[in-house]
Amino acid sequence: MIDLLIKNAALGDGRTNMSIVVNGGRITDVLPGFISDAHQTIDANGFLVSPPFVDAHFHMDATLSYGLPRVNQSGTLLEGIALWGELKPHLTFDALVDRALAYCDWAVAKGLLAIRSHVDICDERLLAVEALLEVKRRVKPYLDLQLVAFPQDGIGRWKDSKGNPTAIELLRSSLNKGVDVVGGIPHFERTMNEGAASVTLLCEEAAKRGLRVDMHCDETDDPMSRHIETLAYETQRLGLQGRVNGSHLTSMHSMDNYYVSKLIPLIREAGVSAVANPLLNITIQGRHDTYPKRRGMTRVPELMAAGVDVAFGHDCVMDPWYSLGSGDMLEVAHMGLHVAQMTGQAAMRACFDAVTKTPAKILGLEGYGIERGCNADFVLVQARDPIEAIRTRATRLKVIRRGKVIAETAPNTANLNLPGRPNSADFLHTR
Ligand SMILES: [Zn+2]
Repeated sequence: MIDLLIKNAALGDGRTNMSIVVNGGRITDVLPGFISDAHQTIDANGFLVSPPFVDAHFHMDATLSYGLPRVNQSGTLLEGIALWGELKPHLTFDALVDRALAYCDWAVAKGLLAIRSHVDICDERLLAVEALLEVKRRVKPYLDLQLVAFPQDGIGRWKDSKGNPTAIELLRSSLNKGVDVVGGIPHFERTMNEGAASVTLLCEEAAKRGLRVDMHCDETDDPMSRHIETLAYETQRLGLQGRVNGSHLTSMHSMDNYYVSKLIPLIREAGVSAVANPLLNITIQGRHDTYPKRRGMTRVPELMAAGVDVAFGHDCVMDPWYSLGSGDMLEVAHMGLHVAQMTGQAAMRACFDAVTKTPAKILGLEGYGIERGCNADFVLVQARDPIEAIRTRATRLKVIRRGKVIAETAPNTANLNLPGRPNSADFLHTR
């Protein structure tokens, strides 16, 4: 007999009344109509069954540290980086692990089962690296955590307590310990030339080791910050196509349109993907503007139209840079949709893909999707399609990993007591 049957499911591609058959933790069939009895049957009641949410850009070493040692008064990126610098000497292994595990609990409850987290390597103790490697091991049964060696203070700019710039050695040690991806922050290096040199150095390190690359790239309103150009160039030179991601790319918002008309095809040609972080980009960019005030998010629909893979990341939750958030990728997609003005039907669906299958591709996740042979990982949401899911930031009714229910939330229904009106409201559009 079948292990698990999900019946009467809607899928993201528009199919309805579908059955998903699960055996041994894998999807063994996806078929229309009712199939047969199973050891366990879940009636989706016509709601959407989606593959899990994926966050392609997060900082799990800083999450839930809000208020430590103080709050960010200005709310700016630079005060956030300074605040993180104040907090770093006081971090402990146990506190880092506890906060990260608590965040992963939230993530699972929201159906977020794969996260790429940057981890700061500018610390002689590599404490956050050790802590997040421990977290990665502990959450493995229920959440895929991919780690990026991230030189927060600059690969050339950071100096140790003896004044030596050894960030590259710390980055290499992190990779030796099992960190998965090479990070970088070229716009934070001292000069444009040093930024470009850091891109070359780090891409060469990744090529040598056969690793992926994900850099914080051009997270600035400065239209002359063009490290994405070097990142695309090095990706091609070193044969890293399909393995390199540019995170943020906010300077593209402010760039000259003529230059962008040359740049986007170069990004596409190099097979470099992009991750925008709408919650952070809309709050942190444009801070030096009066009015008109720039939004600062990268050119999401234009990149997508050119065939570049673009995902939305959460970036931060309750940390020195951002005091809000809850691990809800539908909130991220909702903000991305608004900031990018992606209100067309296809565009809204693309925003849902930007927190599900596109980041899964960027992370290189295997067995992802609702197809025969994929892992039996999915989320049943209280919405009939991806657009309704974004509109209502739909409740994650059930979260399933390898065929087992690992989180459940009661439906979002308000009881009403109004004369001549229904006794409840569930915020769904009746058709
Ligand atoms: Zn980041």
